[in-house]
Amino acid sequence: MFRLSLSTGCLGVLLVALSCKPTTPDNQFPTDAIAADMKVLASDDFQGRRPFTDGETKTVAYLQQQFKAIGFEPGNGDSYVQAVPMAEITTMTDSVMPITGGKQPLRLSGRRDFILWTDRPEPEVKLEQDELVFVGFGVVAPEYGWNDYAGLDMKNKIAVVLVNDPGFGGDDTTFFKGNTMTYYGRWTYKHEEATRQGAKGCLVIHNTVPAGYGFNVPQVAWNNPHLLLDDRGQESYKCAGLGWLSYEATQQLFDAAGLDFRQLQTDARKPGFKAVPMKLKASATMHNTVRYNQSYNVIAKITGTTHPDEVVIYSAHWDHLGIGKKDEKGDSIYNGAGDNASGTAGLLALARATTAQPKPDRTVVFLSFTAEEQGLWGSAYYVSHPVYPLAKTVANINMDMMNPWGKTKDIVVIGIGQNDLEDNLRAAAAKVNRYVAREPSPQAGLYFRSDHFHFAKVGVPALFATGGIDHAEKGIEYGRQQQSDFTAKRYHRPSDEFDPALWHLDGVADNLQLLFNVGDGLSRSAAWPQWKPTSEFKDIKR
Ligand SMILES: [Zn+2]
Repeated sequence: MFRLSLSTGCLGVLLVALSCKPTTPDNQFPTDAIAADMKVLASDDFQGRRPFTDGETKTVAYLQQQFKAIGFEPGNGDSYVQAVPMAEITTMTDSVMPITGGKQPLRLSGRRDFILWTDRPEPEVKLEQDELVFVGFGVVAPEYGWNDYAGLDMKNKIAVVLVNDPGFGGDDTTFFKGNTMTYYGRWTYKHEEATRQGAKGCLVIHNTVPAGYGFNVPQVAWNNPHLLLDDRGQESYKCAGLGWLSYEATQQLFDAAGLDFRQLQTDARKPGFKAVPMKLKASATMHNTVRYNQSYNVIAKITGTTHPDEVVIYSAHWDHLGIGKKDEKGDSIYNGAGDNASGTAGLLALARATTAQPKPDRTVVFLSFTAEEQGLWGSAYYVSHPVYPLAKTVANINMDMMNPWGKTKDIVVIGIGQNDLEDNLRAAAAKVNRYVAREPSPQAGLYFRSDHFHFAKVGVPALFATGGIDHAEKGIEYGRQQQSDFTAKRYHRPSDEFDPALWHLDGVADNLQLLFNVGDGLSRSAAWPQWKPTSEFKDIKR
């Protein structure tokens, strides 16, 4: 067959249509099969699928068994897993953080006022009368001529920073992309930048709207074990204390420091903002137990016929929060039906649909990551230890949280305007009278909150499309209501359970069909999707 290396997505789509696209049998995504996998993965028996637990052992075994049963080859040599060496640090932080130096001494209360942990694998780590500095958004962005740390020596100082970025709420899309959160807005970026600055600590000021979720989400981290990659032997500087401040506690701090918190939030958005020493000193003690162990990415493949060295990667993280704090019903198992048993079941469904077709030209890889909830660690490890060369990786199609509320006319692309894959999706959607929609909350920075982000960070075009809110029967308002209900009542709570009566999987099946049309199309084409000219990932060489 004639093969032409084409760059633009839409042309790729054209090529797909012309090449040996097999006929599309009806119902490639039967909902009973999706339901069967979700039932198992989101069951109490799988204990909320936390790494390093029996929940992990059961989940990884189940996924391997399913991929074998579907007829997929091991994706990592002769293994269906990639070991991910990790450290688990359980930080028990003293429940009071005394603050001195202000109009009156303050005693902040752990979990209610602050969340604090450490990535230093030492038995005891202390903040000792360390000075707090308000560093605005805590951003260093050369492309915007922005440096909140300019002229600052952060040694033995704690950076107090605002969540989101200076463009938040604005409509000037040339300034930090306006209301769409840039990576600078993510709490992970704030901690990473403070670490680069050699700070003793970094506390992100929580605020529900700019953060995109309530303080209950960071609270899950209070005195709970947290995971990170095992970097023994290549140790780098780590802050002593990392965490969050509640908005209310922050107000108290600024009052004690005699500073106008509201005014400084406004000033922090202006070019030339200068950090403000708060003349307050914080102390805290963290007692840590450290465990080193391996968690596992699950990886399976179907080898391509004509171009086996080129790969298309579908992904979905299998992990969730495990067993934790009881909810009002006394339920402590965080089943993670939506997050992300739905995406993982979707991955298995895509695998079945792929084997039901003639073999593709390119190799198709199915990757189910560990430790996404803990910091996207499974995908971070994969892209720094890729099984398939990144330069030969055509695209990543990631699934995280499929929608339970049924068929929709739209499918939402998170991070619209990033790369050509959305054009492929748009073409596939148009064929079934559906349309691609923007994410309803671009300020929430969802593009940085799942595993495709690590592919983007190394220059591999990544598509993260999910749900839709334009409900096929009940319209947009209904869909929007369903979405905010899920975020408010079930996201990262024990109530995120799989109830077949509540979960309308026909919407999930429809979306899988579209993602399959994109992925399967690419696996039978010579197209190389590209990043858009406005994308912050376009210049990354891989
Ligand atoms: Zn997730």
